[in-house]
Amino acid sequence: MKNIVIIGGGLGGLTSGALLSKDGYKVTLLEQHNIVGGCATIFKRKGGFICEVGLHEMEGVYSPQIKKIFDKLEVYKNVAFIKPQEFFKLYSKFGEFVMPDGVENAKKALKVKFQNEVKAIDKYFEIILSLSDCFERLSHLKWYHYLFFPFLFAPILKYKNKSVSEVLNSLTQNEELKLILNATTQYYNDSPKTLSILLHAIAQSSYYKGGGYFIKGGSYKLSRYLADVIEQNGGKVITKATVIKATKNEVIYTLANQNITLKADIIISNIAPVDTYKLFEIDFKEEKQIAESISTIYIGFSKNLKNIYGKGAYSNFIAQENKPFVFVDYSQIDSGLVDDTKSFGEICLVDELKNWEDLSQNEYKIEKELLLENVLSILEMYYPNIKAIIEFAEVATPKTMKRYTKTPNGTAYGYKPTPKQFFRIPQIKSQKINNLYFVGQFVIAGGFSPAIISAEMCCKRILKDT
Ligand SMILES: Cc1cc2nc3c(=O)[nH]c(=O)nc-3n(C[C@H](O)[C@H](O)[C@H](O)COP(=O)(O)OP(=O)(O)OC[C@H]3O[C@@H](n4cnc5c(N)ncnc54)[C@H](O)[C@@H]3O)c2cc1C
Repeated sequence: MKNIVIIGGGLGGLTSGALLSKDGYKVTLLEQHNIVGGCATIFKRKGGFICEVGLHEMEGVYSPQIKKIFDKLEVYKNVAFIKPQEFFKLYSKFGEFVMPDGVENAKKALKVKFQNEVKAIDKYFEIILSLSDCFERLSHLKWYHYLFFPFLFAPILKYKNKSVSEVLNSLTQNEELKLILNATTQYYNDSPKTLSILLHAIAQSSYYKGGGYFIKGGSYKLSRYLADVIEQNGGKVITKATVIKATKNEVIYTLANQNITLKADIIISNIAPVDTYKLFEIDFKEEKQIAESISTIYIGFSKNLKNIYGKGAYSNFIAQENKPFVFVDYSQIDSGLVDDTKSFGEICLVDELKNWEDLSQNEYKIEKELLLENVLSILEMYYPNIKAIIEFAEVATPKTMKRYTKTPNGTAYGYKPTPKQFFRIPQIKSQKINNLYFVGQFVIAGGFSPAIISAEMCCKRILKDT
């Protein structure tokens, strides 16, 4: 039986470990933090709060690709996925707009609001749906399809170098419509000007077609369940285990100040290639630009927001000129994060490690307080007196992200999904070490579904190679 050692217990590492242990491989997963999940985890705070680290909405939960994986691992039977009522709500200088779920519902709502833009709306959906359809077919590609690539996948070739802004500008001059169609950009990138239309099309189509889902009780439920599958199938999941060195056949990690060596027939890395090759002491210069990071404000409310402000949207995008952010109001769903008398909320904004890493301790503290004050004051414009019911509010910066996940620049989104970088063959297998494989945010893209799909691709490749 082959020994598989997995470096990192994010969704990519956990899913690949669960799949391979079910297939009879002997899996050992090493996670440096004291809890598995990477970005897909939780932490707890006084007052009964379970704080979700990141998940707003997972797309593709019932898509054919994810369904195949989740059916095999019996995820649906063991993890509860909760669907908010709508895709998102946007607050902007133009007013408010609620984007419903479902392609036809979304088109209808847009056409009611923008009666002179019917053609642009139809064309936009035609483009994103045809692109996402191409990518779905790409995942089942046989060798002979490559001969017909230009015919079978013409939309990809047409749009692969285009940004979201370029495509939207070619369809309409209506600024409000454009803002609505790219309202969720910060789920993927800092700006629609540098975001690949391909990634936008795949992710947005998935949200429109299948909706976005939260995991009841927090995303750790999924991560922990995957870890349990590894253990139930004879594998090991070791936390507080930091990998410090690797060779082709060995992985060395530290646990409680001791260096421990594990034999490995196959190594799967759930960390960035640049950090992986450092462990192997192999020269590797990362040519690709890393995606931005995120600042997150975790808020515990002493009251249930839904009881105070009424039924509203779950995912609220606030399109401020210089600091757009998204506010997730978990009271709108049965989140399982805190009892019904209280609620939990989260604010996320795109940010960069360089804005924080060189600050002195005192400057860092002050900047965090300023960010908190600034963002909460804006939030109060939409939720009057919300500050009065805050039980706690904590800011996590890209520096915090870096500390907990160790990703380059503290990113959660792998390589920056620009038109130039996004369309590439996923690097599942290392080109430098023949028993080294990659999973996670640096393979396809950031996000729950891409990390999980990368794991399945990796397992398929390992089954083929061994
Ligand atoms: C605030 C926030 C909001 C988000 N919202 C969403 C959302 O709504 N929808 C969505 O789909 N996605 C969202 N994401 C993105 C998504 O969570 C990530 O892209 C995805 O979970 C990354 O998975 P991964 O497999 O790459 O593992 P990662 O989460 O990157 O985990 C890698 C793991 O490796 C471990 N590690 C690192 N170095 C070592 C070492 N030397 N030894 C041992 N272990 C090591 C780390 O501790 C970590 O646990 C969000 C992320 C954040 C942070």
